[in-house]
Amino acid sequence: MDFEIPENLRLMTDTVRRFVKKDLEPISQQVEDEDRIPEEVVQTMRELGLFGLSIPEEYDGLGIGTLGECLVYEELSAVNACFRTRIGTNNGIGSQGIVIDGTTEQKEKYLPKLASGEWIGVFALTEPEAGSDAANVQTTAELKGDKWVLNGRKHFITNGDIADVSTVFAVTDKSKRAKGGITAFLVEKTDPGFFVGTIERKMGMRGSHTCELIFDNCEIPRDRIIGGDANLGLGFRTAMKTLDKGRLTMGASAVGSAQKLLELSLDYAKQRVQFGKPICEFQAVQIMLADMATQIYAGRQMLHHAAWLRDKRGTAVIKEASMVKLFCTEMANRVADMAVQIHGGMGYMKDFPVERFYRDLRLTRIYEGTSEIQRNVIARELLKG
Ligand SMILES: Cc1cc2nc3c(=O)[nH]c(=O)nc-3n(C[C@H](O)[C@H](O)[C@H](O)COP(=O)(O)OP(=O)(O)OC[C@H]3O[C@@H](n4cnc5c(N)ncnc54)[C@H](O)[C@@H]3O)c2cc1C
Repeated sequence: MDFEIPENLRLMTDTVRRFVKKDLEPISQQVEDEDRIPEEVVQTMRELGLFGLSIPEEYDGLGIGTLGECLVYEELSAVNACFRTRIGTNNGIGSQGIVIDGTTEQKEKYLPKLASGEWIGVFALTEPEAGSDAANVQTTAELKGDKWVLNGRKHFITNGDIADVSTVFAVTDKSKRAKGGITAFLVEKTDPGFFVGTIERKMGMRGSHTCELIFDNCEIPRDRIIGGDANLGLGFRTAMKTLDKGRLTMGASAVGSAQKLLELSLDYAKQRVQFGKPICEFQAVQIMLADMATQIYAGRQMLHHAAWLRDKRGTAVIKEASMVKLFCTEMANRVADMAVQIHGGMGYMKDFPVERFYRDLRLTRIYEGTSEIQRNVIARELLKG
């Protein structure tokens, strides 16, 4: 077994770490206060190639593989997870349908724009009546002449307000639904009948917007089915294929934030004096620090192993990806709780970043499949055959 991170990925990670220190750390609080990432920082992200980490080199991306992408997300999420989210949809659910199942024309048209960050791609599956039960989407698509006409409403769509192209899942055959009746379409922001609805007010993740997308007799050309007419009705399969990588990168984000919380807690415990000595000298605090470090170590090892497996095996890491998402996100939430506890009252104050991490991390147990759904997936895989 070789646990060395390959040289090219180490260099990439070092570059991102320097970018985080120099450009992102100083504005992290500003992003929280203003609920937006300054455009000049987004531009640097473009120049570093961060929007195209997972897009193949032939379409102008970096194509650094799953392990590389996870390493970058660990670094970005150590400062503020909203930076990961900004590039996350272009690298993940907003582009991978096209990468995995798109036609050559679709790849040539969209992937270079997504890789450069000129365009933002998003993934629009969730609806008010279709959350964990994603197959229950109500949005419909009807072929009228040479156009598809979409009607419906998506909600909770990350980066929806800045989307240039959305991967939208709509019912094309009610009798078949997930078994051949849901199709993945590409909808551009200039398509008639496409509207951005309410931007949702959230508990955390400021700097990253989540909103409704509305399709009101939205007309798109016939060639916008991902993968072309041959993929009519097979959109649910496309959706499921994109999810395992998303689950791994969500694990990476959780590990990166948890690592930062450990470092903040160590620093605080060394300098905070009570009863005449630093609180790190109390065994109760040491136990929390030891538990945090041990759980992060376990999470990081399984994350890197599963990412490495995916790079080696293609997409067949369904069970491992769900295990990573489940373990790492729940682990990071426990770590955040201990970090707040070590900081005492200061951990509850907005002056200290642990308060923000605590709120932001709560989301990781919910989106891209809740913890309960991950357990369902793992159990289903275990019980197969
Ligand atoms: C900030 C944010 C960003 C998001 N971004 C996107 C995006 O970009 N694109 C997109 O398509 N979606 C997005 N989502 C949606 C997200 O994936 C869903 O919220 C999530 O899948 C859960 O669906 P739900 O909210 O409808 O909860 P529900 O499905 O209503 O779940 C409620 C509870 O019931 C439990 N539950 C439901 N079914 C089962 C079951 N079979 N077994 C056991 N427990 C069950 C759940 O685990 C949960 O605890 C986002 C959500 C948020 C909050």
